[in-house]
Amino acid sequence: MKTDPVSLARRILAEAGHFEVCRLRPQVNLGWLLRHLGLDWRRWSLGGLAGALVQIEGRWYVVTDSRQAAGRQRFTAAHELKHFLADRPQIHVFPPRASADTQIEREADVFARELLMPDESVSWLWRQGLRSPVEIARALGVSSEAAGIRLAELGLGERRLWSN
Ligand SMILES: [Zn+2]
Repeated sequence: MKTDPVSLARRILAEAGHFEVCRLRPQVNLGWLLRHLGLDWRRWSLGGLAGALVQIEGRWYVVTDSRQAAGRQRFTAAHELKHFLADRPQIHVFPPRASADTQIEREADVFARELLMPDESVSWLWRQGLRSPVEIARALGVSSEAAGIRLAELGLGERRLWSN
């Protein structure tokens, strides 16, 4: 499987038909997508860990910390999905130890941003007048911090207008 994180995320969205419906339903149905790709999502109290991939009796689960905000859990689950799809041959412990390849971690974040906030959805919302990270975050089910990073990445608006 090609592991370029942006291509991987976009292929998954395309196969799920997301680009056809993203104007009506901008928020990616992540739970459905994970299940469709063979990963069950559980929300447990993880004691400081944001998320992990675990295999129980042959079945893979993504676990996110139930005490974190829903948007953060979605980002973590999307991040872990990248590991599930592309990194399992290289890493056997999730989350990887501190010594693990940080490029793999960066790529998992790039994947998560693309999966939850594709250009098509963000630009569409922007054209509908949703111009702040808080509004974009609410529409797409992510944290406003993640939405702010994505808006800056896409060159929409100026970051300094949002920070105070
Ligand atoms: Zn990771």
